[in-house]
Amino acid sequence: MNDTRQQHNVACHCGAVQFKARLTDGFNTIRRCSCSYCRMRGAIAVSARLQDIEFVAGEGNLTLYQFNTGTAKHYFCKTCGIYTHHKRRSDPDQFGINVACIEGISPFDFPEVVVTDGILHPSDSDGRSRIAGMLRYSPTE
Ligand SMILES: [Zn+2]
Repeated sequence: MNDTRQQHNVACHCGAVQFKARLTDGFNTIRRCSCSYCRMRGAIAVSARLQDIEFVAGEGNLTLYQFNTGTAKHYFCKTCGIYTHHKRRSDPDQFGINVACIEGISPFDFPEVVVTDGILHPSDSDGRSRIAGMLRYSPTE
């Protein structure tokens, strides 16, 4: 079994937390979310299966934040405070990974990012994921 998907290096700002990740569908799953937490955090997330993350350093340097139902687990670095990944509420077999922590990737690489409706969460309604809108970025040059 050869997994040909690219293995990305992921790290927080200070570098204490480092892991490798393969994504479920490249950068096609990028999104932001409109829930009370994500709207403050402001990060773009991309999907990876739980087994496709491999820690290199600093797993013990992570802090966990949970709220509401406590299903989603939001991890961030104790030292620099940067969110690296979270265990998803809508799909607990997956992590969302902060694209800005992926080596060589910037959140400003993506001209359009889907914003999913995290206020009417699929787990609180009919299980369908709704799109709240689209976030656009255009560089000045
Ligand atoms: Zn850090």
